[in-house]
Amino acid sequence: MDRGIQELIACKKGVFFDMDGVLYDSMGYHADAWSNAFQHFGIDFPPEMVYHNEGRTAQSTINLVYQQNEERDATESEIGQIYSKKTELIEFFPDAIPFKGAKELMESLKKQGIDIWVVTGSSQEKFLDALLQDFAGLVSEEQIISGKDVQHCKPHPEPYLTALKKSGLKSGEVVVIENAPLGIQSAKAAGMFTLAINTGILDDRVLWESGADVVVKDWKDLLQKI
Ligand code: MG
Repeated sequence: MDRGIQELIACKKGVFFDMDGVLYDSMGYHADAWSNAFQHFGIDFPPEMVYHNEGRTAQSTINLVYQQNEERDATESEIGQIYSKKTELIEFFPDAIPFKGAKELMESLKKQGIDIWVVTGSSQEKFLDALLQDFAGLVSEEQIISGKDVQHCKPHPEPYLTALKKSGLKSGEVVVIENAPLGIQSAKAAGMFTLAINTGILDDRVLWESGADVVVKDWKDLLQKI
């Protein structure tokens, strides 16, 4: 399998990266911020549930929690209040730093002429701006599909199908690197080979069951296999 990953990527034309939990060691911050934001409004949403639902847009996450707790979607006002709180709380955390190895892999892909795209459910300018700065020369604004570019968030295939359409690549020409169950489901529904990197707190089994073609335990593990 180790040699397989290297050969697999080398014969592809593009690699689509998820952002949080793949390029950035940021999921712990998001999990705490979401959980505390809901708690502020008296709603229980433990950090582990954030990991299970990672990849949804903010609106989808808030609606899901209201469906589970009150069997209805959240109102516009509730969505606005909770999202503002989450955005406010995440400001207290230090800036997320890219995982060691992410840039190294991108540089190697660039040398091989392999296209790099980022497909994220996030819409927060702060994080998208940081992405452009931290990966300057490797990721451009045109190569980012964010939560603002789609109607349906992960696990729907639309985010990855949008990246396929914009890149002009076919599903068989791309490898997706994801860390989250819903992201893996989205990429698989779009027909792409999906490599899961388990940087979070969920068991590997959850990623395999979401349809991952390969699961590696972290960036070090991934780079050793390339
Ligand atoms: Mg992720």
